[in-house]
Amino acid sequence: MQRTILHCDMNNFYASVECMLDQSLRGHPVAVGGDPENRHGIILAKNYEAKKFGIQTGEALWQARNKCHNLIIVPPHYEQYMKYSRLAHEIYLDYTNQVEPYGMDECWLDVSGSIRGSGEQIGNEIRQRMKDELGLTISVGVSFNNYRKGSIHTF
Ligand SMILES: [Mg+2]
Repeated sequence: MQRTILHCDMNNFYASVECMLDQSLRGHPVAVGGDPENRHGIILAKNYEAKKFGIQTGEALWQARNKCHNLIIVPPHYEQYMKYSRLAHEIYLDYTNQVEPYGMDECWLDVSGSIRGSGEQIGNEIRQRMKDELGLTISVGVSFNNYRKGSIHTF
């Protein structure tokens, strides 16, 4: 049987949540950075404006600041990321009960034979709902794979 699988990936997740919650950040280069005092002084996420300056996830905060002097670095708010990850998950569950999370911002959805439409229709609907209901953007990829017994790996 051919399966229809959606890969849903929330864009710039940590940075997008920060910019959604704090309007004053919008339109500015923003990065979420770990705490330098705990030796976690690295970029954890960045928005599109910061990306334009070549800011990269994993680089040191001082390196990022060298690339963009106006970079706004905010600390992570993991409880908020958990909350929006959960809310996204609830949207996915409207389409299928076969949701496999990968990290906080990615999921695979098996929407094979869904009465809610084709993979593409469901993907577009999910993208729109994320925007309208959560104020976040998401990329959705549709793929097909042939199911063989034992070929689904869960973790
Ligand atoms: Mg992502």
